[in-house]
Amino acid sequence: MKAVAVYPGKPNSAHLTEAPRPDLESVSNGRGVLVKVLRVGVDGTDREINEALYGAPPPGEDFLILGHENFGRVEAVGPNVAHLKPGDYVVATVRRPGRSLYDQIGLYDFTTDAVYYERGINLLHGYLAEYYVDDMEYIIPVPPSLKEVGVLLEPSTVMQKGWAQAMEIQHRLKVWRPQRAAVLGAGTIGLLATLILRLRGLR
Ligand SMILES: [Zn+2]
Repeated sequence: MKAVAVYPGKPNSAHLTEAPRPDLESVSNGRGVLVKVLRVGVDGTDREINEALYGAPPPGEDFLILGHENFGRVEAVGPNVAHLKPGDYVVATVRRPGRSLYDQIGLYDFTTDAVYYERGINLLHGYLAEYYVDDMEYIIPVPPSLKEVGVLLEPSTVMQKGWAQAMEIQHRLKVWRPQRAAVLGAGTIGLLATLILRLRGLR
């Protein structure tokens, strides 16, 4: 299959390449989901990876398939996948669990490990390819009515996570009633942050 990859550590190495089509059976216990990629967002992280400021290939390989903001359609599922079927629209999460306590309780975005695993960014191939396979735990169904904006799900979760943490921290004050928010950055997340905060009634 076609894929867009870089050689991490080598600036401006983004290139079109051929990579083996991933196999449903590469995920154990019949939990695999094969997804045809329909859209991939490219952002500042991808640019930094291409500038060799960031990113590492999977162990034993010299290239990294780019792409973490993704949207696709299920092609096939393993026998133990109950909540997804071929034809469903999906988005896959980016970070995979490491070893810390946070990783073990499903909060791997808060890992305290020094080494972390992120598809398309660090040590795992990304989604800028024709297909990917992953464990059903990491695949989120998207209703067909949201298929035009589904590729924005991953960046919007970054914003949502930040908001949830701010609420958790400020909750201690009992009387926190935010009216205004300052949004830094003009990229995808900045745009979504502005939109989501507006929806929450903040200026
Ligand atoms: Zn991103």
